[in-house]
Amino acid sequence: MLSSVVLEKYKQKRNFTSTPEPAGDVTLAAERAKKARPEKGLFFCVQKHLASHLHYDFRLEHDGVLLSWAVPKGPSLNPKDKRLAMHVEDHPIEYGTFEGVIPEGYGAGIVMLWDQGTWKPEVPDIDAALKKGDLKFTLDGYKLKGSWVLVRTGGRYGSRSGTDARSWLLIKHRDDWSGDLDITEFAPRSVKSDGDFEDILAADRPDVWVSNRPAKSGEAGAMLAKIIERAAALKAERPARKPAAKPRKEAASGTATPRQKRVSAPRRTTRATKSRA
Ligand code: MN
Repeated sequence: MLSSVVLEKYKQKRNFTSTPEPAGDVTLAAERAKKARPEKGLFFCVQKHLASHLHYDFRLEHDGVLLSWAVPKGPSLNPKDKRLAMHVEDHPIEYGTFEGVIPEGYGAGIVMLWDQGTWKPEVPDIDAALKKGDLKFTLDGYKLKGSWVLVRTGGRYGSRSGTDARSWLLIKHRDDWSGDLDITEFAPRSVKSDGDFEDILAADRPDVWVSNRPAKSGEAGAMLAKIIERAAALKAERPARKPAAKPRKEAASGTATPRQKRVSAPRRTTRATKSRA
């Protein structure tokens, strides 16, 4: 395990009375670690996260938790692209299905489950590969497939001048699944709800950031302003689902089932992605 205490950093950063993110069950992590058979495939996911900046959180299950890297530009299918991936704190395995709105605090913004599936190491020893800073693996997701590598650039003996010890690069290997297609542009939506950011926000609390929005300026700020506007419009045009008597409660319940029903064709982007190969 990379961290001495399971999920300690994850828990330290968050206030679970104000975030809908999972608290992180260490017993579950231990059980999961015991059952894991890397040769049969472990869980992986990518969460598109519009916070103070837009980034993609790339997560690989290992030892019962999700090893995590924040990739500002997102993954690229082009082997020539070396995408910066900042190693961040391990996340609980339950985080792998999370999608929703973080109203305030650490990571405040909108989280979309952009891809998920299984991963297999292409090396015999995952811990040794992580220590070495060179992990080769195969992905079988809806959008990301084939062979990839994560290489640490931050220096194996700690941080050198001009580099950060947490810096890695995420690179696609050349194979049937590599190519020029801009996958983040081509398949921008959720694999869970088929929604975009505004749908996720509209289904949750479109009014949450009337003041104090998480990204105020720059590209992310402009993007969020538009999303808030579109979410409000979506919410307004949608017929009232329930009696207006208890709107607050409904809003707080997070992933409401009516939204799932409304979306009749999930995986649309997925099929298109598959057929491209
Ligand atoms: Mn993030």
